Amino acid sequence: MKYYSTNNKNRQVDLKEAVFKGLALDRGLYMPERFPVLEKDFFKRIRSMSFPELSFEVALALFGDDIPHNELRKINDDALNFETPLVQISDSTYCLELFHGPTLAFKDVGARYMARMLAYFTQGYQKEIHVLVATSGDTGSAVANGFLGVEGIKVHILYPKGLVSYLQEKQFTTLGQNITALEVDGSFDDCQRLVKEAFVDREINEKLTLTSANSINLARLLPQSFYYFNAFRQLPVSDKNLVVSVPSGNFGNITAGLVAKKMGLPISQFLAATNINDVVPQYLETGVYKPRPSVATVANAMDVGDPSNFARILDLYQHSHGDIKKAMIGYHYKDSEIKACIKNVKAEFGYIPDPHGATAFMALTEFQKENTNSIGIFLETAHPAKFSDTVEEALGEPLPIPEKLAEFGKREKISRTMSTSYGDFKNYLCGL
Ligand SMILES: *Cc1c(COP(=O)(O)O)cnc(C)c1O
Repeated sequence: MKYYSTNNKNRQVDLKEAVFKGLALDRGLYMPERFPVLEKDFFKRIRSMSFPELSFEVALALFGDDIPHNELRKINDDALNFETPLVQISDSTYCLELFHGPTLAFKDVGARYMARMLAYFTQGYQKEIHVLVATSGDTGSAVANGFLGVEGIKVHILYPKGLVSYLQEKQFTTLGQNITALEVDGSFDDCQRLVKEAFVDREINEKLTLTSANSINLARLLPQSFYYFNAFRQLPVSDKNLVVSVPSGNFGNITAGLVAKKMGLPISQFLAATNINDVVPQYLETGVYKPRPSVATVANAMDVGDPSNFARILDLYQHSHGDIKKAMIGYHYKDSEIKACIKNVKAEFGYIPDPHGATAFMALTEFQKENTNSIGIFLETAHPAKFSDTVEEALGEPLPIPEKLAEFGKREKISRTMSTSYGDFKNYLCGL
């Protein structure tokens, strides 16, 4: 399989290069040249398969030409060592819980898969690979935990001092091994600038092999399509239309769902649920894409003003606004609606969604009101305890912290402080 850049279909690279580069040289995003359609037989057998088993078959269709099958099996089974259970909420509504990985958020799936794929591609390298990541929270914890203990790879996480929540910080500053946390005395933008400068620094690049674990990387994006198949596997057999509601920020998660559909998964409709950062729902309504600065909300993992995967969505549908509008319907919600929803879902169904899952739930409810002959799934992208401030405020009662999250809190933080000057960061890199 070859991969092309969304800016130039003629410039194709192989999987290894796409994974290493992340972003194409022309700033476009990589896309697979085709989407293999899975055979009917696969969908007949799917209900008797486990999550890693069915994912391996999808992975074979995508990556089977580029990675030997026994190696791909190892990457796959090692990465997907947790379930994505489908929980029934009401007669025709289900929740796909994507928070059973090490950091209790769906980004664990892509981060774990990418770490193992990168390790495979760098086997036998004389030099270590250094992954540089700037984070304001969620990405850092998923990447750090995803790469933890992966041989031949060192991860350096830059994060803004005092601007990351306590438990979030603990998730990437307490790991040790091949993970180093760099606490930058500045903002997230400073962290990102330092990483970008390192990538274009000739001297550093002669000395070190650098790569990023950005969310636009194909090795993170494509494996996210696997859990859509896993959701389908767990549904009762039905001839009703399947609709999936996805809480969206950079639109990677929903893009992975659209990929699953292209590969033959029978999803009739996607719902793109956002907070008030509703650039894509606006585009769906008007046909005009107008990025704008993001605004802070209680569903902050979706505070994105110019979603990075939008270029991929345009590409999937040949820039046809009409076709994109058919594939997904946009919904957007205010903080007050999100908080009220958390309370209502608990009261009505005994289920506690996180702020992101709550937006997806509201979109699904609105859709199903008018489309009664549908089976709906909304994605729960994080455990509610990761957003305990908002959830507790909404419920008016304390929320128990799951063992896995509490465990991080007990460990000792180890970080190296750093100024915002590139010289400081360069010194650190030179010492590696
Ligand atoms: C990253 C994230 C999202 C948004 O996912 P995209 O792929 O960027 O659309 C939603 N919810 C949570 C909890 C996240 O961490």
